[in-house]
Amino acid sequence: MATAMAQDYQPYDGVEADEVWAEEVRRLARERDAVVLAHNYQVPAIQDIADHTGDSLALSRIAAASDASTIVFCGVHFMAETAKILAPEKTVLIPDARAGCSLADSIDAAQLRAWKAEHPGAVVVSYVNTTAEVKAETDICCTSSNAVDVVASIPADREVLFCPDQFLGAHVKRETGRENLHIWAGECHVHAGINGPELAERAAANPGADLFIHPECGCATSALYLAGEGTVPRERVKILSTGDMVHAARATKAGSVLVATEIGMLHQLRKAAPEIDFRAVNERASCRFMKMITPAALLRALREGADEVHVDPETAARARASVQRMIEIGKPGGGE
Ligand code: SF4
Repeated sequence: MATAMAQDYQPYDGVEADEVWAEEVRRLARERDAVVLAHNYQVPAIQDIADHTGDSLALSRIAAASDASTIVFCGVHFMAETAKILAPEKTVLIPDARAGCSLADSIDAAQLRAWKAEHPGAVVVSYVNTTAEVKAETDICCTSSNAVDVVASIPADREVLFCPDQFLGAHVKRETGRENLHIWAGECHVHAGINGPELAERAAANPGADLFIHPECGCATSALYLAGEGTVPRERVKILSTGDMVHAARATKAGSVLVATEIGMLHQLRKAAPEIDFRAVNERASCRFMKMITPAALLRALREGADEVHVDPETAARARASVQRMIEIGKPGGGE
């Protein structure tokens, strides 16, 4: 999925997310024996119609455990692929297969093979935001919740190749103190756009607020730095996966929270804790790939059985092994 072209794509549109639409979505889903899953970054109408909303790994696990024969995955392509890897016997549909991910696109299987050839014997750890082909070349997948535990589980004398996210990689390197960890220079354009100066300014203007930060954000390092120098009390800075943000929202005693991740996340947080004032660190941090899953696209998927996600069985088997190793180590959490 070539991200450079994605901005030229026109999402399916022309359908309003009203009660008639909602009823038709529910009817078609029943007819297809389908369960509708929505990622936390989806538009509110899609989150609200879904049977389950969550982060990428939690949704893939729900897909695998579901009795439904069809999974409609409202998210980006690698997420629907992960569901197919974990539930190969089910039909997996994504409402718009053009919904890619700039982070997953930042490394492909050929690049990873070339990198491995430069470091023979190294253990490859990949974040879940990767294609099935890259997962198949990976020893252990990780989420933002267990990346540190996964790397710490590898014998200290083995080199580690960490991909594709450089900010998550920097977080893991700092936490493990590991010198033989090599980091791929990939990034998500949305998360990289949330920067330290913006965070510092927002934190200073909202002195009582908690800070919920996704480790892929360009500001994760700055947040810890600000905490280290006392600008923001350390206990107010919480580095969390999107799924853990919902748990933290229910648990916090703060009256307001600054959220550094894609802005779709605010919808679930406000639903989980309506009494808290949640604000985006950067209101422009919106993923256009996630927003390609429109009400029109969902209707089309259910009517036409499109777009179906296929993963070659041999690739899926190798990719599944790296995902299963991840699940065995630490607390996998939910990834993005
Ligand atoms: S927010 Fe970034 S990492 Fe997440 S799907 Fe969009 S491009 Fe990919």
